Amino acid sequence: MISLSRIKTAFFHIRLGCRKTQTIVRHLSISVRLHSDSVDYDQILVSRIRNFSIIAHVDHGKSTLADRLLELTGCISARAGNKQVLDSLQVEKERGITVKAQTASLLYKHDGESYLLNLIDTPGHVDFSNEVSRSLSACDGVILLVDANEGVQAQTVANFHLAKSKQLVIVPVLNKIDLKNARPEAVAQELFTLFEIDPEEILRISAKLGTGCEAVLQAIVKRLPAPDARRDANLRALIFDSWFDRYRGALNLVYVKDGSVCIGQEIASCHTGKAYEVRSLALLRPGEEQVGRLVAGQVGLLGCNMRTSKESNIGDTLFLKKDKTCEALPGFKPQQPMVFAGVYPSDQSQHPYLKGAIEKLMLNDSAVTVTPDSSPALGQGWRLGFLGLLHLDVFSQRLQQEYDAEPILTAPSVTYKIKLKGAKIIAAHGGNEIIHVSNPALFPEKSLVEEYYEPFVLGTIIAPTDCTGPIIGLCVERRAIQKTSINIDNDRVMTTYLMPLNEIVLDFHDQLKSISSGYASFDYEDHGYVASALVRMDVLLNGQLVEELCSVVHISKAHLHARELVLKLKEMIPRQMVQIAIQAVVNGKVVARETLKAYRKDVTAKLYGGDVTRRMKLLKQQSDGKKKMRSIANINVPKDTFINVLKR
Ligand code: GDP
Ligand code: MG
Repeated sequence: MISLSRIKTAFFHIRLGCRKTQTIVRHLSISVRLHSDSVDYDQILVSRIRNFSIIAHVDHGKSTLADRLLELTGCISARAGNKQVLDSLQVEKERGITVKAQTASLLYKHDGESYLLNLIDTPGHVDFSNEVSRSLSACDGVILLVDANEGVQAQTVANFHLAKSKQLVIVPVLNKIDLKNARPEAVAQELFTLFEIDPEEILRISAKLGTGCEAVLQAIVKRLPAPDARRDANLRALIFDSWFDRYRGALNLVYVKDGSVCIGQEIASCHTGKAYEVRSLALLRPGEEQVGRLVAGQVGLLGCNMRTSKESNIGDTLFLKKDKTCEALPGFKPQQPMVFAGVYPSDQSQHPYLKGAIEKLMLNDSAVTVTPDSSPALGQGWRLGFLGLLHLDVFSQRLQQEYDAEPILTAPSVTYKIKLKGAKIIAAHGGNEIIHVSNPALFPEKSLVEEYYEPFVLGTIIAPTDCTGPIIGLCVERRAIQKTSINIDNDRVMTTYLMPLNEIVLDFHDQLKSISSGYASFDYEDHGYVASALVRMDVLLNGQLVEELCSVVHISKAHLHARELVLKLKEMIPRQMVQIAIQAVVNGKVVARETLKAYRKDVTAKLYGGDVTRRMKLLKQQSDGKKKMRSIANINVPKDTFINVLKR
């Protein structure tokens, strides 16, 4: 088993290692404030506030545009050479992707009036769509940013529909018009074909050079409505993000829908009923700028000495304790995790530390679910649920970078739904006829089961027309069923497929990218459960079951998989002192088998007498090697076997 940061797999639109930074700065304080000293933010009328997000496919330039808007409004200095200022997590800098949505309050003068524009930068990746969705709940409009070179891509479609479903005003913007190959006319036509966006409404900019960015600010002021907020009402503030500060406890990012809140006032949570004293209030510009009061329409940071991560609930409404009660604002629909993996401390003594680190990170990433789990080889740990594989990978990387934790992760799997058979079996499962299983080792065998169901997704693929053949081939191999197909223009098609999540979780996106030379984009949404002929495949090493290597496969693929699996294991497990039988078993029958021959001799055995140091050195090398191994049934298996073996 390995830390997942090492697998370069699935869903990556990322550019690895392009920007390095050693520091993790949550909200950068290097910003140079140009003209914010004497502003009374709470004097800005609700009618002069605009709350908006930038949404786009990854790499279309959201963070770059955010930088330009920060500069144009004097939040940061252009000369400071700040790059993607809002991407402050280390993993974001390194990969050039945005993981957390971030907020910045901008002051903008228009027609002699001061406007307060609250910009929320969102991640574009499907795994983080809950971040996008949450950010949008504080917004009245969005900038839909499309790369004029790449054109509409899969997440552009998903994000457009998300914004539309929330009835937000959409300001369409084409970016990167400075590029030689930019084709603004053609892309404007795509926007019309797919979304019926009037080409006249579309702004054309270069976020990199700053061309046209002022017009974006003007469009926000002119086209977006002011927030529907009332200052004369009782306080209602929606928590839409939170994170943990070592000294101040949980900090809440709130959107003040009604009323106002001052430092020193007592507030209470609708969700828990607990009361707190407000200790700090700040606007994010994008560094914290302390204020004495937050008023309706504003987005700001509220600290109230919440000691544990659990007290701050995203989607919760805060009100003034003296008002006794309040009607909660609509919260958020919790997102269902799609991918699960076991997480274990590399050494059991690290268990309490890892537990604390996971809890703190979960506060910052509310989409992760956790349940205690244990394994014979790995001891006590947890089974964590993620929205997708990139989400899992980013979470494990953040555990390492922000908390210095080195957990072991098992191969990811999805959650199956199972209808049990017979009163006895149902009674043994606490009277539940339907159970959910996310750990393949616990997948019940056919005799106990009426029906198995697996999760399906509706996938959208946008790709060049000439890749159609190979893409259909890949999708058929992954048991996908084509639903629709639309020509976006002469060169590109958008196709939707119903596909089993199980088939895309590990490497579908990698494969798609490679057969389309990087041109295809992919996005998916949940499509519920479908009855399916599934079986559990067990792996035995010298007759002993290796739980961590269990997997669930479709029956049509069981034999093929079994063959591939035993061959791969034979390659991956180093030869040992004894012969090893590797067997794959389905429904109690061995369907594939390989034998790994034993070493002939102990290489250190003949080194005796004068050669003590060489013998010691060799023994040390051997024991160092073993540390990277897991011992299963007295057989040393390299930690990364557990994930590598499942990749195709
Ligand atoms: P995000 O993933 O949407 O936040 O995209 P980024 O802001 O990180 O930008 C992705 C890449 O596109 C970066 O390398 C930017 O420098 C580049 N980029 C952004 N805007 C422009 C532009 O207007 N012109 C050009 N040529 N490159 C741009
Ligand atoms: Mg970004």
